[in-house]
Amino acid sequence: MMHYTHVRNRIEARKEFCASLVAGTLERVTREEGYNAFIEVFDEEARATAAECDERIRTERARPLEGMLIGIKDNICIEGKKTTAASRMLAHHRAVYDATVVTRLRDAGAVIVGRCNMDEFAMGSSGETSAYGPTLHPFLEDLVPGGSSSGSAAAVAGGLVHAALGSDTGGSVRQPAAYTGTVGMKPTWGRVSRSGLIAFASSCDQVGPITADVRDSARILAVIAGPDSRDATTARTPVDDYVAAVDRGVDGLRIGIPREYMGEEVPDDMRARVRLVGAMLRDAGAELREVSLPHSTLVFPAYFVIANVEASSNLARYDGVRLGRPEGDAVERAGGNAARMARALEKRYRASRGSGFGREVQRRILLGTQLLEEGEEADWYDRARCVRRQIREEFAAMFNDIDLLLTPVTPGPPFAFGERLRDPLHMYLTDLFNTAANLTGVPAISVPAGADARGRPLAVQFMAGAFDESTLYAAAGCVERVLAAQGADVRGGAR
Ligand code: GLN
Repeated sequence: MMHYTHVRNRIEARKEFCASLVAGTLERVTREEGYNAFIEVFDEEARATAAECDERIRTERARPLEGMLIGIKDNICIEGKKTTAASRMLAHHRAVYDATVVTRLRDAGAVIVGRCNMDEFAMGSSGETSAYGPTLHPFLEDLVPGGSSSGSAAAVAGGLVHAALGSDTGGSVRQPAAYTGTVGMKPTWGRVSRSGLIAFASSCDQVGPITADVRDSARILAVIAGPDSRDATTARTPVDDYVAAVDRGVDGLRIGIPREYMGEEVPDDMRARVRLVGAMLRDAGAELREVSLPHSTLVFPAYFVIANVEASSNLARYDGVRLGRPEGDAVERAGGNAARMARALEKRYRASRGSGFGREVQRRILLGTQLLEEGEEADWYDRARCVRRQIREEFAAMFNDIDLLLTPVTPGPPFAFGERLRDPLHMYLTDLFNTAANLTGVPAISVPAGADARGRPLAVQFMAGAFDESTLYAAAGCVERVLAAQGADVRGGAR
């Protein structure tokens, strides 16, 4: 993999050049060694920016991420470029402005290499629902790289870029990171601007980096975090020094392993790995406890209701008129006749949504609409919100007693292509341990912690109290250092 901090030293020493790094990546993508991680690369712009980076380094005007090669998930707007959320619906949609995160990365000197493949509208856990075809796993043939930020994870794990941005609504940064031996960070809701992110479930969505190591993740978050006048939900809470936190150690930290995340559904080697990491942290000075989060069984059902309801509302704007591919009869031809116009409009909605959205997206919209149906006795949405509040309270109380939760990221290793496409529930359950952080808004990180007997990455997740990303980086940095000192193969086959 490409580690930025390492390369940065070499670039500054003029032993390596951004221009040649970019050229190498572009060549691999064009030779189709790119795992279908990119939907598009920005050949000319990337080369031009890289040349500028080299010039800045030469003249000692380097910025924090100078020359960092970065991929952007295709649901984050890049001015003048197509932004499609990997959907036919938006196949011709061009962004008219940069997402705030993109502006901040550019201003910090990053080279935007291209837009990364993903599950359509970020709905999925395997990268298979993209209109541009599935993303391949860089080193595990026949297995999925995870999703929905599949291309972001594959691009980093395959050594095409130093980092990529993903979005995480219910695990979509952490789960593909766990499947590919990379580091995936989901910041606190409100820590990073969502301006320019195509919405899925707004109360859960956050943008986060996928990187080769913990320090690179901290470097990126330091740049993209903080208030934004274009997103009123961003918090004014001060941004900590994340990069310094990586080396802080875990002395005195209280770490809890929740019983509910260590059940029978988790394979033995994965549970053993979580315990091993716990023991490592204890040896490094942390205090380890077993804790309990009794509401855990309600987390996934509540996420399922809330995410689908919000999705059905957010995606209503793609109707072939306001946004999205126009299909069906031209409404204009109705010649001012109201009844005919209404029929033509209806036809256009049907045709656009029928051909523009893939199966999974249609399923989510239908489910969300159904759950909102007036007079629905069960009143699903209100009940889900009530449960969400209880889960939040449980988490808030927990983080009064401890500093970190340590859990597996997924209930199992990466699975085979096609294995879960026809079994949506089975697919959804890969995010069983991820969605609590989205529902409660707390930050969470996925860190490589070894590989199983078949070379599949094993990863652990840390969650912390709201806006305490620096404690996540302290723990993740510690795990990375201890494993490296042991010479462990921490990333499976990732190169
Ligand atoms: N896989 C989950 C879902 O499909 C989460 C997606 C995400 O985080 N964007 O809902």
